[in-house]
Amino acid sequence: MSTLFVSDVHLTNARANIVRTFIAFLETKARNADALFILGDLFDEWLGDDDDKAPHAEVSDALAALTATGLPVSVVHGNHDFLLGKKFAKRSGCKLLGDDTTIDVYGTPALIMHGDTLCTRDVNYQSFRKMTRNPIMQKMFLSMSLEKRAEKAANIRSESSKDSALKPDDIMDVTPEAVDKIMRKRNVRHLIHGHTHRPAIHNFTLNEQEATRIVLGDWYEQDSVLIWDEAGYRLGRIKDL
Ligand code: MN
Repeated sequence: MSTLFVSDVHLTNARANIVRTFIAFLETKARNADALFILGDLFDEWLGDDDDKAPHAEVSDALAALTATGLPVSVVHGNHDFLLGKKFAKRSGCKLLGDDTTIDVYGTPALIMHGDTLCTRDVNYQSFRKMTRNPIMQKMFLSMSLEKRAEKAANIRSESSKDSALKPDDIMDVTPEAVDKIMRKRNVRHLIHGHTHRPAIHNFTLNEQEATRIVLGDWYEQDSVLIWDEAGYRLGRIKDL
């Protein structure tokens, strides 16, 4: 038995093959796990729990079928699906976690998060994030019609892709200082996150002890999964499961 971690599945009808791969994963291989953690950007766009465009209902139902077996599934908000709310949690049976959470993985404490908060050099994104995570702003946004929300989201996306194209790559990666700070604060030696789509296991020294940062890749190119069992962990692909 193992605990599985995935991130950045970015489900959208525009990539129907990934939707099929992910649902097949929920229906088969995920069932043998002890627990599943989804570390953000499960959906490419989630405009609120009433956003029922395909494949949202189909995926929520597949998650519900999995959680109904008793398997715990936890979901972290990403920068694409930070509006996943209570109705989604109730329908899917998933537990929504906070921005950073320390969990116990077979006796090892590990801090899990999406990873966007670690990209502190991206000042524009961090101020955008602060605004969009403000409960009053969210309430205002959610009170608009779905059409209006879709329009606003499309504008933001086109602005942000222009902005990203102009940014040097390292600005959009995590900063070692941010990693160091949060791991010290939470007193952990293991950090697991996604967001950057740069799958890797980074070993480094923290407080003169060995520390590890595991970065999950995305699904549309990498179908990345972290498999952690009693014997240890490995970062692989769904086909390796
Ligand atoms: Mn992300």
